[in-house]
Amino acid sequence: MSQSEDNRCLNCQLSENETPLVPLHYTGKQAWICPACLPVLIHKTEMLSGKLAELEAA
Ligand SMILES: [Zn+2]
Repeated sequence: MSQSEDNRCLNCQLSENETPLVPLHYTGKQAWICPACLPVLIHKTEMLSGKLAELEAA
Protein backbone atom coordinates (compact mmCIF):
# COMPACT_ATOMS: atom_id res chain seq x y z
CA MET A 1 0.00 0.00 0.00
CA SER A 2 3.04 2.25 0.20
CA GLN A 3 3.24 2.70 -3.57
CA SER A 4 0.54 4.52 -5.47
CA GLU A 5 1.59 2.99 -8.78
CA ASP A 6 2.28 -0.66 -9.47
CA ASN A 7 5.32 -1.57 -11.46
CA ARG A 8 4.21 -3.08 -14.75
CA CYS A 9 5.78 -5.16 -17.47
CA LEU A 10 6.99 -2.93 -20.26
CA ASN A 11 5.60 -5.26 -22.88
CA CYS A 12 2.38 -6.83 -21.60
CA GLN A 13 1.51 -4.42 -18.76
CA LEU A 14 1.02 -7.13 -16.16
CA SER A 15 1.64 -5.75 -12.69
CA GLU A 16 4.08 -7.09 -10.16
CA ASN A 17 1.07 -8.40 -8.27
CA GLU A 18 0.21 -10.66 -11.20
CA THR A 19 3.64 -11.86 -12.29
CA PRO A 20 7.24 -11.63 -11.12
CA LEU A 21 8.97 -8.67 -12.72
CA VAL A 22 12.63 -8.36 -13.59
CA PRO A 23 14.24 -4.91 -13.48
CA LEU A 24 15.54 -3.70 -16.82
CA HIS A 25 18.01 -0.87 -17.27
CA TYR A 26 18.41 0.82 -20.63
CA THR A 27 19.84 4.18 -21.60
CA GLY A 28 19.73 5.30 -17.99
CA LYS A 29 16.06 4.41 -17.61
CA GLN A 30 14.63 1.66 -15.49
CA ALA A 31 11.72 -0.45 -16.61
CA TRP A 32 10.32 -3.85 -15.71
CA ILE A 33 9.70 -6.97 -17.71
CA CYS A 34 8.04 -10.26 -16.86
CA PRO A 35 9.56 -13.69 -17.58
CA ALA A 36 6.99 -14.35 -20.31
CA CYS A 37 8.22 -11.29 -22.19
CA LEU A 38 11.93 -11.94 -21.76
CA PRO A 39 12.09 -13.85 -25.08
CA VAL A 40 10.72 -10.72 -26.73
CA LEU A 41 13.53 -8.75 -25.18
CA ILE A 42 16.08 -11.27 -26.37
CA HIS A 43 14.81 -11.57 -29.92
CA LYS A 44 13.20 -8.20 -30.59
CA THR A 45 15.30 -5.69 -28.78
CA GLU A 46 14.41 -2.91 -31.22
CA MET A 47 10.74 -3.35 -30.50
CA LEU A 48 11.41 -2.84 -26.81
CA SER A 49 13.62 0.12 -27.57
CA GLY A 50 10.55 1.66 -29.19
CA LYS A 51 8.50 1.00 -26.08
CA LEU A 52 11.20 2.51 -23.90
CA ALA A 53 11.24 5.57 -26.14
CA GLU A 54 7.49 5.87 -25.56
CA LEU A 55 8.12 5.72 -21.82
CA GLU A 56 10.64 8.48 -22.20
CA ALA A 57 8.18 10.61 -24.13
CA ALA A 58 5.42 10.08 -21.58
ZN1 LIG B 1 5.26 -9.13 -19.87
